[in-house]
Amino acid sequence: MDLSSVKTFLLDMDGTFYLGQSLLPGALSFIKTLKKQGKSFYFLTNNSSQNALFYTQKLKNMGLTEITPEQIITSGEACAWYLSQQKKHPRVFLLGTRALEIELMRRGITIVERRPDFVVLGFDLSLTYAKLQKACLLIREGTPLVVTHPDLNCPTEAGPIIDAGSLVKAIEASTGCHPKFMGKPHPELITYILSRLQTKKEEIAMVGDRLYTDIALGKNSGITSILVLTGETKLEEIETSPWKPDFVFSSLKELSCYLESPIPSK
Ligand SMILES: [Mg+2]
Repeated sequence: MDLSSVKTFLLDMDGTFYLGQSLLPGALSFIKTLKKQGKSFYFLTNNSSQNALFYTQKLKNMGLTEITPEQIITSGEACAWYLSQQKKHPRVFLLGTRALEIELMRRGITIVERRPDFVVLGFDLSLTYAKLQKACLLIREGTPLVVTHPDLNCPTEAGPIIDAGSLVKAIEASTGCHPKFMGKPHPELITYILSRLQTKKEEIAMVGDRLYTDIALGKNSGITSILVLTGETKLEEIETSPWKPDFVFSSLKELSCYLESPIPSK
């Protein structure tokens, strides 16, 4: 197996492309290599509290002026697609930020307080007891729950903060419901991406720093997975993990060197 047949790279952001507010080694040369080789790339994030415009601006502040919002795929966007696949013009009771609300609305979803088709939980930084109580009531009445992504915590410079995967545990405990999860590592995300980009599984690869989200997404959906060691994972952790990457590189710098001159496979 080599990477020459890969035409599109899906890139995790934090720990892969940047760390906090700084680009990681080789981030820019990786993009240059892709451009030179006529390959495309998209950023993929599970964080549904922000939308594509926010990340475009964040990357712009780091000197990447040519990234367009279309190159950022959030779990919120994938969730909107999933809901629309289930029902035409879905009505949603939302536990999420204003940015997620806008993301869902611009994709034809109506945000309602009464008689929703779905309850949707995102990374809700404005969550209240009243909202949780209402969500549980609706779920008990039979409304399905969809969660934008399963992350238990979101990494911040001040340490991990509680994320959607932890918030949903309160709802599950109260109602006994079985939510539908979107985002990495769930394969529906790749189904969505394949339909949006009009491409094939064989032509895309996932690059990330986490085994249980980025690499698991690759494995769960049958696409090539590439681990970089600039974030959460140490090399020795691969051995004990159920998620084995197809390729491992110390950083995007090493990956771009490999793309420039691949070592022939035996
Ligand atoms: Mg990461």
